[in-house]
Amino acid sequence: MLNFDLEELQKGDTDSWDTYKPYFEELNKRPLTDESTKAWLKDWSDMSRLLEEIGTQAYINTTLDTTNEAYRDRYMQLVENLQPKLTQADQDLKVRLLESGYAYDEIALVLRNMRNEADLFREENIPINTEVTKLTNQYDQATGGIEIDWDGEKLNMSQISVYLQDEDRAVREKAWRAMKDGWMGVRDELNSIYLKLLKLRKQKAKNAGFSDYRSFRFREMGRFAYGPADCLSFHEAIEKTIVPIVNEQLEKIKAGRQLDDIRPWDWLPERGMSIQAEELPPLKPYQTEDELIQGGVNIFSQLDETLGRHFADMAEHSLLDLESRAGKAMGGYCARMPQQGKAFIFMNGIGSHDTVQTLLHEAGHAFHDYEGTQPLTWQESAPLEFCEVASMSMEKLAAPYLSKKFGGYYNDKDAARAFLEHLRTEMMFLPYMATVDAFQHWVYTYDESEGELTADMLDAKWLETEERFLGAINYGDDVEFRKTGWHRKLHIFQIPFYYIEYGMAQVGAMQVWRNSMNNGEDQTLEAYKTALGYGSTKTLPELFNAAGAEFRFDVDMLSGIAKMVQAKIAELEEVISED
Ligand SMILES: [Zn+2]
Repeated sequence: MLNFDLEELQKGDTDSWDTYKPYFEELNKRPLTDESTKAWLKDWSDMSRLLEEIGTQAYINTTLDTTNEAYRDRYMQLVENLQPKLTQADQDLKVRLLESGYAYDEIALVLRNMRNEADLFREENIPINTEVTKLTNQYDQATGGIEIDWDGEKLNMSQISVYLQDEDRAVREKAWRAMKDGWMGVRDELNSIYLKLLKLRKQKAKNAGFSDYRSFRFREMGRFAYGPADCLSFHEAIEKTIVPIVNEQLEKIKAGRQLDDIRPWDWLPERGMSIQAEELPPLKPYQTEDELIQGGVNIFSQLDETLGRHFADMAEHSLLDLESRAGKAMGGYCARMPQQGKAFIFMNGIGSHDTVQTLLHEAGHAFHDYEGTQPLTWQESAPLEFCEVASMSMEKLAAPYLSKKFGGYYNDKDAARAFLEHLRTEMMFLPYMATVDAFQHWVYTYDESEGELTADMLDAKWLETEERFLGAINYGDDVEFRKTGWHRKLHIFQIPFYYIEYGMAQVGAMQVWRNSMNNGEDQTLEAYKTALGYGSTKTLPELFNAAGAEFRFDVDMLSGIAKMVQAKIAELEEVISED
């Protein structure tokens, strides 16, 4: 008989299914009684942690050096050969667990999630999922392949970013127009991909016994704490309370910059880019990666001893790769290392304030991983709506320590400016988030009994929705391009309905930040750490409450937040305008 010994297992080839197979077979055969199931769950969980960490490490390597073929081959080998076997083996064990009827309080939510997955599972949806994945890859290829002509040079969508943010308005407009030509060149292709995706998604919902894709998708995403109606009233609350504040900001930009109008090259919501009312040179927080890391250690230690230790631990164990360099993948992320109970942060720092802001954000995710360790791996990953509360709160809680006198990066005035720009960006995100979400609610509940949806109808709906939330941007003669705005958010193609999470989390994070101002930092941080420590063992509203926030998104809640942010923005504007 096999002795379930993971140290022994790790002496074998940990990339090969053959190494794990006997262990899964043993788990599959071991009799489950009330007494034995606890140990069985722990063995399964420990092995899942080991496997997740191997996969994560292999993935991290591919992003650290995209030119290394051995890294890429190894990762693809894991994805293509190990992962499918593992998914099936996991599924079998899940079924066994659910059928055993074994339960106790701390795993109630784990069981609920597993049961939900099992309920929605339909064999006939497996080939549909493969089709969907192919189409979403086509979206990546079509958009990744766009070449933007820039003074004879060919740029891709991310390379044009530098010029879209240029201080010179004429350069921004030129970049925007070049980008527009790139997108319009793939318009028909993207329309066709999306219409195919809609058909497949509707079929999936039907196969699973749902009348529309939206109700299926809400269940698939494990949205137990809120429904479509809550999302629609969140949109309305944003329209009533946040849009006016954003419009006020835009008036200040116009006055400060002597502009007649806000054009899409002044504010580009799909990229989170906007000019500021003040014409100031970009912030320069640090020179070297060491300085960036040391600043982080200082800031988090000032904020909270435990969190400071977590960050220092990451620095000590080479779990921070923050600066951009040739060959590195794009973007930034925080990866959970479940076996070590640690986290890894990947970023593409370029010495800008954006880099610092991203570091504060990703550190919040990392603290969640450090604080949220639990007996079983499935008890650890909190719902995404709350994961972003952990990260977005950190962006605000750490802000008072950005100043050099706390070991941070800026003089007092620049520290104020950094936080001011952050708050403005946060406000400007919400109307765009509402546009993306409201559009999809309409798309996936459209009654096709009178005729199928067409690209023209999608365009018209997007335009109407943008005018509702982002009407202040003047597109001039480029309305035809505005209509296709839904092409430019990959979530709409690849992860339907996944976006409102960021809006909800922001409302949660704003409340956490408010608590730190009203009730003091210590109490707020204790609640923050307690909530992070629950992992996924509490429901979404319970996690919000533990962090000191209410899980609601109505006019009353949002107007309270709007007033607070407005007051803080005015205060910070005062600080940066002082001589
Ligand atoms: Zn995040």
